[in-house]
Amino acid sequence: MDTKAFKRTLQHSENYNRKGFGHQAEVATQLQSEYQSNLIQQIRDRNYTLEQGDVTIRLAQAFGFCWGVERAVAMAYETRQHFPTERIWITNEIIHNPSVNQRMQEMEVDFIPVTAGQKDFSVVANEDVVILPAFGASVQEMQILHDKGCKIVDTTCPWVSKVWNTVEKHKKVDYTSIIHGKYKHEETVATSSFAGKYLIVLNFREAEYVANYILNGGDREEFLKKFAKACSAGFDPDQDLERVGIANQTTMLKGETEQIGKLFERTMMQKYGPTELNQHFQSFNTICDATQERQDAMLELVQQNLDLMIVIGGFNSSNTTQLQQIAFERGIPSYHIDCVERIKSEKSIEHRQLNGDLVITDNWLPDGKIVVGITSGASTPDKVVEDVIEKIFTLKTAISVL
Ligand code: SF4
Repeated sequence: MDTKAFKRTLQHSENYNRKGFGHQAEVATQLQSEYQSNLIQQIRDRNYTLEQGDVTIRLAQAFGFCWGVERAVAMAYETRQHFPTERIWITNEIIHNPSVNQRMQEMEVDFIPVTAGQKDFSVVANEDVVILPAFGASVQEMQILHDKGCKIVDTTCPWVSKVWNTVEKHKKVDYTSIIHGKYKHEETVATSSFAGKYLIVLNFREAEYVANYILNGGDREEFLKKFAKACSAGFDPDQDLERVGIANQTTMLKGETEQIGKLFERTMMQKYGPTELNQHFQSFNTICDATQERQDAMLELVQQNLDLMIVIGGFNSSNTTQLQQIAFERGIPSYHIDCVERIKSEKSIEHRQLNGDLVITDNWLPDGKIVVGITSGASTPDKVVEDVIEKIFTLKTAISVL
């Protein structure tokens, strides 16, 4: 499909909106009261530190809602306001945060139902409104909705659109896009739908495997099995790795994406020589600023003397997992939770491990004076961070008066 031409058609359609409806001022107050926090603002004003009793909280200097998420949530609120009686659907979670998604449902913004792993768009009537979330939607989904003639409100973050443009550039010059990302993640699913030939690598280890195949060849069947769900249809590792371009899911670890880019640059230089490099390799920086800032702030935070780290964010939020990984690699006891209810008591916390398992850890809150590092993913409202901090203060105060 000529995805560029399709996007142009869609963007000129009178049923398509990606700029909002001019109700920003009205929804701003609502968003402020539902998601912002005075306590967090105070901590920001006090150099990101707050001490109470035995607890010192150190907040990362960049955390929480990024502008892309804020924009998407505001557009969804505006959509409800603009279409008070219409049926409104959303193709996926607007962002990866349970409380925000819960609010969407309260506002009667419904998810497209999924049957046997497939979204069932037959529920959408042509007078309905459909919101595309911050990390976008695949071109096939957009096509279905466009063909239905329903109204489309596209909240896709411009950073994500920038990656789509990058893979389209690769496609135009017949390069294979190597996408650093998670093949199941909605953003990567959408990005790969705009690419021509593509291969998705999860991490540096997988990238090394591919680089090694480029240089030395290898077991073709093993390669195809390994990337069965992570490459374009008919992908041939012996033909389709001669010219490659790099792109990424915007929320992956910045350092790892850079390492992967450099690895493929070296690999192509080694295979084809420096004068031919430009005919075999293209790199673009598609890491979003917000992800980068949050990761940099986390790297600074973990250098302080922390007794433990709480990382707050949806369990399917990729950027939150990356923050958790930074704490884990430093050997700091760290707990990824998505809401305050995961803190069961001063003795018990339920949290997600890096491998995705949900576990309960006992005796997680140390006695005596403690320093707690806190950060949150790009889809976490400050209100949720406030709840967690207040819970820690309450638990520690209760222990100290026992
Ligand atoms: S993390 Fe970056 S790419 Fe994702 S919504 Fe936020 S600003 Fe956009």
